[in-house]
Parts: sequence; structure tokens; C-alpha cells
Amino acid sequence: MIDAYETAFLRRAVELAAEARAGGNPPFGSLLVGPEGTVLAEERNTTVTERDISLHPELKLAVFAARELDPTTAAATTMYTSCEPCQMCTGAIQRSGLGRIVYALSGEQLESIKPPSTPRAPATEGPHLLDEARVPVDGYYG
Ligand SMILES: [Zn+2]
Repeated sequence: MIDAYETAFLRRAVELAAEARAGGNPPFGSLLVGPEGTVLAEERNTTVTERDISLHPELKLAVFAARELDPTTAAATTMYTSCEPCQMCTGAIQRSGLGRIVYALSGEQLESIKPPSTPRAPATEGPHLLDEARVPVDGYYG
């Protein structure tokens, strides 16, 4: 359970979600709060207005954290977000070094509110070409 201090940040995320919707985008918003309790960045979903499927607020903030925060600060930074991050954003957040996520709606709760949708997984095939494909990778990681 989060306290009143953190609830205020989560309410701001919900407010950002409403702003995203008012601006013609899906209703999602997020913010980063640093170790000193300072709001470091805020984002709204802009996937419709910018015609870019990757512009979820959580992904934008993960990119911001990886680019702008040192690892110690990132690890001590919390993302407050109006909804539990999707798989795309979760992957980016894991790579960003951010230390903590606090969300309002769960993914499951979101699914119960909106009309049902079934994401289509593409057909994937592999692995192939091991001898060739390993050449640019060999030695890269030390
Ligand atoms: Zn997402």
C-alpha cells in the first residue's frame, strides 16, 4: 500500500492520462520521481497524434531515464503510471535501470474496462544461419 505522499504522484499520472485523452490519444500518463522526491519528467501517450506505436508514456520515460540519469539515480527513481506497463514498455523499463514502478490500473483491470481485443502474434521462424549470424556478435560482449 502506498502512502498519501505517493498517492499524490499516482493521481498526477491519472491526470496525465486524462490530458492524453483530451489531446486525442489513448488515456495513459506517467511520471518519474527522483530520489529527492522531485518530478524529473512527465509524459502522456501520443501514439495517435504522432502516428508512432512506440509512444507510450512509460517507454518515453524509460528512454529518458537511460539517456539522462546515472545508474544510481535511475535505480532510486520511481515511475508512477496510470496503468500497469505493457510488455513493450516493461522490456524498455528493464533496460532503463529504473528501480521501481507504481501503477494505478492493472493490465487485467484495463482489459475489463475496454472492449476485448486479441493481439495477433506474427509467425516467427528461427534460429537460422548460426555461423554467419554469430560473426558480428562474437567478441562484442567481451
Ligand atoms: Zn506500453
